[in-house]
Amino acid sequence: MTLARTAPSARPPLIDPFAREITYLRISVTDRCDFRCVYCMSEHMSFLPKKEILTLEELDRISSAFVERGVRKLRITGGEPLVRRDIMSLFHSLGRHLETGALDELTLTTNGSQLHRFAEELVDAGVRRINVSLDTRDPDKFREITRWGDFDKVMNGLEAARRAGLHVKINTVALKGVNEDELTEMVRWAHGDGMDITFIETMPMGEIDGDRTDQYLPLRLVRAQLGQSFTLSEIDYKTGGPARYVASAETGGRIGFITPMTHNFCESCNRVRLTCTGTLFMCLGQEDAADLREAVRTSEADDLLHETIDEAIARKPKGHDFVIDRRSRRPSVSRHMSVTGG
Ligand code: SAM
Ligand code: SF4
Repeated sequence: MTLARTAPSARPPLIDPFAREITYLRISVTDRCDFRCVYCMSEHMSFLPKKEILTLEELDRISSAFVERGVRKLRITGGEPLVRRDIMSLFHSLGRHLETGALDELTLTTNGSQLHRFAEELVDAGVRRINVSLDTRDPDKFREITRWGDFDKVMNGLEAARRAGLHVKINTVALKGVNEDELTEMVRWAHGDGMDITFIETMPMGEIDGDRTDQYLPLRLVRAQLGQSFTLSEIDYKTGGPARYVASAETGGRIGFITPMTHNFCESCNRVRLTCTGTLFMCLGQEDAADLREAVRTSEADDLLHETIDEAIARKPKGHDFVIDRRSRRPSVSRHMSVTGG
């Protein structure tokens, strides 16, 4: 991919109606995945036709427009971003914004299955920290949760990431009756290997095969459980994400908690999300969106794209209201996390 460098911008930063500056863009580069995690997808997902998916050039163009408007952090996600063909060319092209200093961080959320192939190249492209999702260290449970995942491959991927010098944060979805008995052990393991760990509550997004009310485990219970083994203290550590962090005295590492269901972190929300089809969601928990694909496909100049982004940011809502509805048992947001990018 050959792309122009983003010139210093005359365009204004993106500030929403609640005076929040948008500095973080999450980009889903594919809706496809080599796993079928039970809380994320049904086993027989139908994926989008190729023409609906942004090309790598379009992804670069839109991301770069955001960088021009003051976005300092890009997170590539999916689906599984590392299964998209030629994805490394996007990392390399976006890496130019790190070189110019326009971007502070280019990062990735991955299930780890392809890290053994790409860890070194990610570092070459300028990636320094990555999030790897892992809900269990028990290979049988791993298979149950991911349905199609290969535990050993993920472990090899983590090893490759470490060798390449990537800082890894583990993301673990807390699942009632599934991994709740091993969360303390996961903290010991992650911290023992120099990795932070963040626990995530299940969010009601997209139709899945099972019943979400069965999976929901409030993180206040997880925190109470961890408090029996570790001395936890609140710390003022921020990564630009919604996690609240505590430090564990015994292991010397950090533990994050992302609690969209029970705690509102919207006041400080600095982020928007781009789907792999070019739809911009201003809030993870709301349906309102803007079509940036139309803007890039109908005009070669970026004016229309910037106009569409401005209109979208002007509509960024104050907050979300996720609920797992016990009566209807429907997801409160119908799109899948793999489309919006977790
Ligand atoms: N495939 C990559 C991965 O698993 O890391 C990136 C995409 S995945 C959608 C991003 C994150 O969203 C993962 O950590 C996953 O566990 C989380 N996730 C997916 N569905 C979720 C749900 N319904 N509730 C909470 N977290 C979810
Ligand atoms: Fe794939 Fe990530 Fe969803 Fe699991 S959570 S099915 S790895 S996109």
